[in-house]
Amino acid sequence: MGSAGRLGGALALVTGGASGIGRAVCARLAREGARLAVADRDEGGARDTVGGLHSGGTPHAGGGPPHAAFEVDVASAPSVTRLLARVQEHFGVPPTICVGCAGVTRDEFLLRLGEGDFQEVLGVNLTGTFLVTQAVARALVAAGAPGGSIIHVGSIVGKVGNLGQANYAASKAGVEGLTRTCAKELARFGIRCNAVLPGFIVTPMTDKVPPKVLEKFAGMVPMGRLGDPQDVADVCAFLASGDSSYITGASVEVTGGLFM
Ligand code: NAD
Repeated sequence: MGSAGRLGGALALVTGGASGIGRAVCARLAREGARLAVADRDEGGARDTVGGLHSGGTPHAGGGPPHAAFEVDVASAPSVTRLLARVQEHFGVPPTICVGCAGVTRDEFLLRLGEGDFQEVLGVNLTGTFLVTQAVARALVAAGAPGGSIIHVGSIVGKVGNLGQANYAASKAGVEGLTRTCAKELARFGIRCNAVLPGFIVTPMTDKVPPKVLEKFAGMVPMGRLGDPQDVADVCAFLASGDSSYITGASVEVTGGLFM
């Protein structure tokens, strides 16, 4: 796929772009021709992502590099406000594509789960998704509503729950409600909002899961394997593109059939 791909010239903001699914999303969107604002709490990792990105089939004559890295804490409103200001200053336009991949886990059984770990996961996964979505939507509306596609990375765990993940499951269930409400409110501005619900995808996040548990999950997946970040990135690229122009408020499961 060359620079004149489905997303040719569009600016995409990806949070959590320093690692795992977010990094794969950045790579896929860049291959489809998008310019990338890669944002993460881990700024060095975001820069590494930018360093590995496809920069178009032809050199960018006269222009600066098509992609840039930004530091952000999505759970902090001032940090998100700063991020949008810096992205717009750098690229001259607001992002018309936004993929919210930043997320954390703090796993513990309910009976032992501390309120701090509950709030932290809600803060990053749910409040962070809200703050970034609101900031992007405000910027797009202020720019005259040139259209847009906002994609939230939820989790199948938000639907089915998971042992040791009361905080994470609650945050991801919240993300789905947020997605559907944003879809309803933003449709009149030409902004679509959808969620992808990954199953178990092999990333640094799953490094924390004991191999025995991962093996057990792999055995439960009808397609017989755990997911790859690329599997999720492919669906995000579809939802970002005009190929999904009549889809909004949807949650797309990317699970290999797990928990269908
Ligand atoms: P990962 O740990 O590889 O990547 C998460 C990224 O988010 C990291 O780069 C981290 O620095 C960044 N991040 C964390 N807190 C942040 C904050 N406050 N502000 C900005 N950036 C922050 O994990 P991943 O597996 O790639 O997960 C990406 C998303 O996919 C998450 O939302 C996760 O919940 C979701 N997800 C993952 C799986 C899976 O099996 N890996 C399954 C379902 C959903």
